[in-house]
Amino acid sequence: MATQTVKRRSRDGLPVPVPEIPALADPRLHGARCAGMAPTFDVWIPNESDDDRRDRLAYAQHLCSRCTVRVACRQAATEHDASGIWGGVLHGDAGRPKREAA
Ligand code: SF4
Repeated sequence: MATQTVKRRSRDGLPVPVPEIPALADPRLHGARCAGMAPTFDVWIPNESDDDRRDRLAYAQHLCSRCTVRVACRQAATEHDASGIWGGVLHGDAGRPKREAA
């Protein structure tokens, strides 16, 4: 069966979960609200403005605050090289990536 690739957006233009996408590989995170929402939870998105980044990360943290596996997610973040929003906490934010010299 082919995977559905339709992208859905919320009223504010951010992606919304696609229920057909399976839960994350870690069985503790089954039911994660972020499933299918990459890159909403990433540290950086190329060419994103500071305002858009702030709004996006706040939205991700809002979703985490209502996620039933938040506690397990925070534990999982300690076991991985976590980057981005995990359990409502931003990991790996070492400043905006520098442009490579030409
Ligand atoms: S707490 Fe946040 S990052 Fe963790 S599984 Fe839930 S929605 Fe995803």
